[in-house]
Amino acid sequence: MSSKRDIIEIVPPPFVEKKNLTECITSNTHLCSHCHGNGFFWQNEMNMAEKKTCPVCNGSGKLHATITIKWKPVKQ
Ligand SMILES: [Zn+2]
Repeated sequence: MSSKRDIIEIVPPPFVEKKNLTECITSNTHLCSHCHGNGFFWQNEMNMAEKKTCPVCNGSGKLHATITIKWKPVKQ
C-alpha cells in the first residue's frame, strides 16, 4: 500500500547570519487523531446527546505541526 510522508531537508539558509539562525516550518495539515477528524465528540448528559468540541483541535478536526530549527556552531 502506498503512503505519503513529509520529509524535512535540513540545510542552512543560503545567506546565514547571526540574525537568522532560527527557521520555522509549518507542516501540512493532518487529521486530529484525538477525535479522528470529527472535531467533536458526542457526550451523554442526563440522557441528552450533547456535542462536545475536541479539546485538542478546537473543533477543526485538523492539526499541523510547527517545527523550529536553530542553527548553532559546532563546539570544537
Ligand atoms: Zn480533534
